[in-house]
Amino acid sequence: MRWRWSRFVLPGYLMACCAILPVHGWLNDSPLVETGGKRRIVLVLDGVPYETIVKMRGEGLFRRFRAPARMISTFPSLTNPAMIEILGMPDSPGYEDHYFDRTRNRLVGGLQDRIRGGKFIQGTFRQTFDYHASALKGSFAYLAAPVGAISVAQWDLASFRQAFRRSNAPFFVGYLGATDSLTHLGGEPAIKDFLSTLDQTLDELMDEAERHGGRLEIEIFSDHGNRYDEYRGVKLNAALEKAGFVVEKSLRHPRGVVLPRYGLVGASELFTAPENKVRVAEVSAATEGVDFAAYPVNGNVIEIVSRRGRARLSREGDHYGYEDLGGDPLGLNDVVGRLKARGAIDANGYADRDDWWKETRSHRYIDAPRRLFGGFHSHVANRADLLVSYEDGYLLGSPFMGFMARMVATHGNLLPGETEGFAMSTRQTFGEAVRGYELTQLLELNQRNRADLLINGVGHCEAGVLLAKSLAGVE
Ligand SMILES: [Zn+2]
Repeated sequence: MRWRWSRFVLPGYLMACCAILPVHGWLNDSPLVETGGKRRIVLVLDGVPYETIVKMRGEGLFRRFRAPARMISTFPSLTNPAMIEILGMPDSPGYEDHYFDRTRNRLVGGLQDRIRGGKFIQGTFRQTFDYHASALKGSFAYLAAPVGAISVAQWDLASFRQAFRRSNAPFFVGYLGATDSLTHLGGEPAIKDFLSTLDQTLDELMDEAERHGGRLEIEIFSDHGNRYDEYRGVKLNAALEKAGFVVEKSLRHPRGVVLPRYGLVGASELFTAPENKVRVAEVSAATEGVDFAAYPVNGNVIEIVSRRGRARLSREGDHYGYEDLGGDPLGLNDVVGRLKARGAIDANGYADRDDWWKETRSHRYIDAPRRLFGGFHSHVANRADLLVSYEDGYLLGSPFMGFMARMVATHGNLLPGETEGFAMSTRQTFGEAVRGYELTQLLELNQRNRADLLINGVGHCEAGVLLAKSLAGVE
């Protein structure tokens, strides 16, 4: 049974709300703060994939921007770790907003927290943006999909535009979260529609600055990719239980495994007792839709288990080594061969992170050693005992979400489609590909004075207005 009524909640709400909006309000906009001079916007578009930006550039959009680079996300390719790396901020509590708290030995941060907004924004990296939509607003995206997602994205863009026009900050950092839900639920046609409105909006802001004798530079990037596909669910719970493990919400049973399920994504984080790790990895790796399972042996060694075989990653500071234990599961033997041939591997078998980067930028597993160590030892406070990466076309997540919405794109795994966001700018090029932590410096994200944070500065009807305008071709 589906919740048919839910399809009418958001459109009904928007219609009711817009019906009471005075007509003259439709074409009004907030006044532009006269600042003149040079200004710069950095705008984060959550979850917009590189391949879509490339297509749109090919169609003549984003013409004022220089060539886009692939933005290589963290592993798992999820917003929390990716944004923590890019912003250079202290660890996020969990990989996602619903996570396993090791100290309290329980799952925390559910949908209620998100709707209440408190913990979702306050005290997190989200609070550092000059513009971030309210948490409640984001939650509407999953109602009446994809109509809800389209409305929420337009609403988010209108609010961002107003927040910027009201601000006098020379450097303004905004974050649009609705682009991720729009891509998940509406796929490429929906996100392309939205991006052409965005392109127009950014053009207008740049024109406006010039008319006032100033100059506006804009830099936009996304935190991870999103791969378009028909998705199937991974039956990891069933596989673990069949193998004698107990999937639970707190670790109590000797063979207990905690598997937080939130969103619908291409990787999972597992928590279990140390003695279970090897077997849980083997059972996971043998499950349909699993690409590989990984677990740390200590701070400097990670074991990889897949149906293709096994391997071991090791590190010494910023130097990494890959040892094929049979089957070359990450397909890195050739890379190691090339690194050896050019003398980049030392006597202990390690190569520098920049050499790995150069050799794997176009590989199926981009920058795998650094990103896998990052997945276990950086960006989040409650670190997993195992990470499981799914094959393209597979996902796992919240049963409630699966019930409410059908995903036509997702992200999370170590492969290119889910990993590759983009970065482009009107004032600089980032080369062919860029790592998250390099963006911190390139965008000077660590050197700004934060303008007054504006959360949800716009009335609810703005989305309806923009939607109506875009349908009528007014704007
Ligand atoms: Zn997402």
